[in-house]
Amino acid sequence: MSRKRVLITGAAGFLGSHLCDRFIAEDCHVIAMDNLITGDLRNIEHLFKLENFEFYHHDVSKFVHVPGELDYILHFASPASPIDYLKIPIQTLKVGSLGTHNLLGLAKAKKARMLIASTSEIYGDPSVNPQPEEYWGNVNTVGPRGVYDEAKRFQESITMAYHTFHGVETRIVRIFNTYGPRMRLNDGRVLPAFIGQAIRGEDLTVFGDGSQTRSFCYVSDLIEGIYRLLLSDYAYPVNIGNPSEITIKEFGEEIIKLTGTKQKMVYKELPTDDPKQRRPDITKARTILGWEPKVSREEGLKITYEYFKSLPQELIDKIDHKDFTTYNK
Ligand code: UDP
Repeated sequence: MSRKRVLITGAAGFLGSHLCDRFIAEDCHVIAMDNLITGDLRNIEHLFKLENFEFYHHDVSKFVHVPGELDYILHFASPASPIDYLKIPIQTLKVGSLGTHNLLGLAKAKKARMLIASTSEIYGDPSVNPQPEEYWGNVNTVGPRGVYDEAKRFQESITMAYHTFHGVETRIVRIFNTYGPRMRLNDGRVLPAFIGQAIRGEDLTVFGDGSQTRSFCYVSDLIEGIYRLLLSDYAYPVNIGNPSEITIKEFGEEIIKLTGTKQKMVYKELPTDDPKQRRPDITKARTILGWEPKVSREEGLKITYEYFKSLPQELIDKIDHKDFTTYNK
């Protein structure tokens, strides 16, 4: 049987690169695409020698051409950390809207099944906890996060429209906070921020009073959930995340314990529209996909800490998240 041909956008990013590994392990032919604005070729360089892997340096906001047949398209190109979309808001809007439109057109032309990476951010600052897929969200369209949140909401709408109007086979995963090796140490997210600070011997910067909650999913669990969703026949959005919820202050305490740092937590201004709570309701993933997370935070954090410690010193020293709050001004 011939290999399935899979296009993965955002392939050099954190999640994209893990998806490349997964589809290579499934003996697919992987066509990886990235414009490398936030992605890093080091995440996929081990795949370049394979005959069933190819890479295109391309921005999917522009017309996308892929020769040959395609079975699956996974659209994972997008800045995904608050600091990134505050720095490059227009690209963030374009890749979620124009990029998705181009790829849906490609899926239609190739009769490929397309899975889009949506996000818990479409729930905004949620007034219900945990968030089920039926919750419509509470998003500030004109706030700093609006460029990401609204691009992702539009992405879901246009994907459903291509499904119902054009009959394209589509899948929508709503991804909650995910972590693991290949996350960028300087992307401003809380987990690399805290671990990076601990490694450099700096205080841990807690935004606000640290009472806001998040629920962290280890990357291998997320990839398994995405893979199952792609192969399922369910076209509506499915939350994939780990429902184990923790406050940011407690999370800081866990990182202090894990790393053995002698530093303390210091409190900074809370960024605009920072969600107060976030936890996935994963009933759908459990019942439709038979999926639930397997890796505990303790286990996942240990692996991630080892990964960050193994990075070259210049990456550990390179930080630009310190001025995060100034982007909100
Ligand atoms: N946060 C923090 N210190 C940091 C970075 C982030 O306290 O150095 C907080 C942030 O305000 C938010 C939570 O940690 O409440 C998670 O932030 P992150 O940027 O990782 O992603 P989000 O879930 O907000 O998209």
